[in-house]
Amino acid sequence: MASERDPSVFRTSLTDLVEELLAHEGPLPIVAAGDPVLRRGAEPFDGQLDPNLLARFVAALRATMHAAPGVGLAAPQVGVPLRLAVIEDPAPVSEEVRRARGRVPQPFRVLVNPSYEGIGSGRVAFFEGCLSVPGWQAVVARHTEVRLTALDEHGRPVDEVFSGWPARIVQHETDHLDGTLYLDRAELRSLSSNRATSELWAQPTPEHAAEALGFSLPD
Ligand code: ZN
Repeated sequence: MASERDPSVFRTSLTDLVEELLAHEGPLPIVAAGDPVLRRGAEPFDGQLDPNLLARFVAALRATMHAAPGVGLAAPQVGVPLRLAVIEDPAPVSEEVRRARGRVPQPFRVLVNPSYEGIGSGRVAFFEGCLSVPGWQAVVARHTEVRLTALDEHGRPVDEVFSGWPARIVQHETDHLDGTLYLDRAELRSLSSNRATSELWAQPTPEHAAEALGFSLPD
C-alpha cells in the first residue's frame, strides 16, 4: 500500500547514492545516452548533501571531467539527479581556432541550480561532443552570448554573462540538468564520428562540413 512520501527518505537516498559513488577509487563512471537519468529534469540542490559530502562530490566530478577528458560535467552524467555541474577549459587550441570559436580558457567553476537565457538573437554553430554520447560529434547552433544565473558551491549567487566557447559550455551543461542532450539541438546531418571530425572537420569553423554533409548554418 502506498503511503505519504517522507521527504527524509529521498534526502537519505541521494546521500547514500553519492557516498556509494565516492566509495570507489578513481574517476566516476559516466552514464551514457539511453539512461533515463539523462532525460529527467534534475532536482534543484537544496542542501540534500551536507557541505562536506558536496565538496567531496564536486572534487570527484572535477577529477572525472579531467580524466575523461572534458570541459564540463553535469551530475546526472554520473547518475546523480541534482542541478549541479562543473566546468573548466584550459583551451589547448591554436590561435586560429581560439579566434574563430572564441575558445578562451575557462577557469574551474561549480554551477549550482544554473539557468541561462540568450542575450540578443546571435547564434553560432560549431561541432561539439558529449561524454555521455561517446565517439560522436555534431554541429549545434547556440546562443552567442548568455546570461547565467546560478549559485556557486558556497551558495553565493552568480549572475554573469558568458560569451564565446564558455557560453557554449554553460548552455551544454545546463541543458543536461533539464534532461536535454546536445543531439536534441544538433544538425543531425552533421553527425560525425570522432575520427571523421578529426580527419575531415578540424577546420576552425564548420562551413566545409555544412557543404559536404548538407546542413545549414545560422546566418
Ligand atoms: Zn554533455
